[in-house]
Amino acid sequence: MPVSHPQAVAEAGISGRIPFDNTYAALPERFFQRVEPTPVAAPRLIALNDALAEALGLDPEFLKSPEGVAILAGNRIAEGSAPLAQAYAGHQFGNFVPQLGDGRAVLLGEVLAPSGERFDIQLKGSGPTRFSRRGDGRAALGPVIREYIVSEAMAALGLPTTRSLAAVTSGEQVVRERMLPGGVLTRVASSHLRVGTFEYFAAREDIEGLRLLADYAISRHYPDAAEAADPYLALFEGVAARLADLVARWMQIGFIHGVLNTDNTSIAGETIDYGPCAFMDAYHPRKVFSSIDRQGRYAYQNQPGIMKWNLARLGECLLPLFSGERDAALAKANDVLGTFGTGYKAAYLAGFRRKLGLFDAHADDEALIGDLLARMAEGGADFTLTFRALSELAGGTATDDSVRDLFSDKASYDAWAFVWRERLSREPRTPQERSAAMKAVNPKYIPRNHRVEAAIAAAELGQCDLFDELNRVLARPYDDQPAFDRYCAPPQPEEEVTQTFCGT
Ligand code: AMP
Ligand code: MG
Repeated sequence: MPVSHPQAVAEAGISGRIPFDNTYAALPERFFQRVEPTPVAAPRLIALNDALAEALGLDPEFLKSPEGVAILAGNRIAEGSAPLAQAYAGHQFGNFVPQLGDGRAVLLGEVLAPSGERFDIQLKGSGPTRFSRRGDGRAALGPVIREYIVSEAMAALGLPTTRSLAAVTSGEQVVRERMLPGGVLTRVASSHLRVGTFEYFAAREDIEGLRLLADYAISRHYPDAAEAADPYLALFEGVAARLADLVARWMQIGFIHGVLNTDNTSIAGETIDYGPCAFMDAYHPRKVFSSIDRQGRYAYQNQPGIMKWNLARLGECLLPLFSGERDAALAKANDVLGTFGTGYKAAYLAGFRRKLGLFDAHADDEALIGDLLARMAEGGADFTLTFRALSELAGGTATDDSVRDLFSDKASYDAWAFVWRERLSREPRTPQERSAAMKAVNPKYIPRNHRVEAAIAAAELGQCDLFDELNRVLARPYDDQPAFDRYCAPPQPEEEVTQTFCGT
């Protein structure tokens, strides 16, 4: 029995500056490639997320030190890190690709936060791996900044998401349509398990690998499922519930993921892989931003259906693990798919009720919500401003004109508002109470595309002030921040961003 020396433990705590506690690296070697990040020429830290570092139990000052920055750039391997690139497959735009994997990312390892939660720490843009195919393994600075801003905004909005711990410029150029400055993002996630990770093993008919992966996912994300009569079915149910809730949350804030492939669908139920994502300005259900999404497969209104499609792919992978005969297992899997639809609808309605200041549930709420959205689409109303202005209106701190002016057809808004007011009168609340409840779910500040693009353009020229300021404003999306009111405004016609690029 080894004797524990308190002093030795304390010393180990200090020398292991990032207290890695790795579990994925203990899975069989076919789950990943052990590979170190490729060093970059001249790393410079442009953002460090102090609050996140502290929540993870990491010392922000250490991460900002030359040694810390070297780790965040991939130029130095931290003690305790067991770097690896994860294997996964995926359906990209509906087409199955049996091998994708981390082609430009390396998992440094996991840490246990003081909260007891386990998190992956991953570098993105850290050089080639066995999974790079024809890619260079690098990331341009633009997409690094976009992911940093949008993922942190999502966290502040209260949505499940991966986080951004740091961004570094590499001092190297990457070749895209043109030469661009390179960057490395340090991403934090509950895990990087994807629907595509399951597809990787299923495609190889590696049932043992599949079972190990499912057991790992259960112990890491769905521990209650281990106690269920059929743990793998319970895992599937758990993922279905989280993904239904997640996509309902996206719909409520006007978020369009942009590349909702199965490899970009997290088993933990977090928003992951921010590429050509966007928040809508003017509402339209068919809105698409991604330059590569020519058919609009991942348009705003298609997201719930696509998420269910992705979930069905997971169900197919898990089928051999479900208990009972194949037909019975298939029926159970289909029942779970059905729960996605009901869970999504319940979350969607509950969320939009809150956005409209409704406290009780009525049968005609769905029609009221749908009617507003239809009129917003027709009238070109800004999604975020409409709901925020309604929140002010309900509190008596704004007039009808502030909402009406957002619609090209003012009478169309008036007709809806008449019904809304009648509905509100059926559940009297004080204006203050109603307005406060609405403002807590209707953000004032979102990462508007033109602001994100401006922050990227400045950072590419070495100016990070806009990036910093945007992060600061978006950290408190529901609060009135009068000094930053300009960040509420939709783009001027000449500022409008109509396309986003994944920049890979
Ligand atoms: P994404 O579009 O980011 O979801 O990536 C899809 C796949 O392409 C993943 O397997 C990535 O690792 C890979 N990939 C994307 N960009 C690069 C790159 N620059 N170098 C190598 N692999 C990449
Ligand atoms: Mg991806």
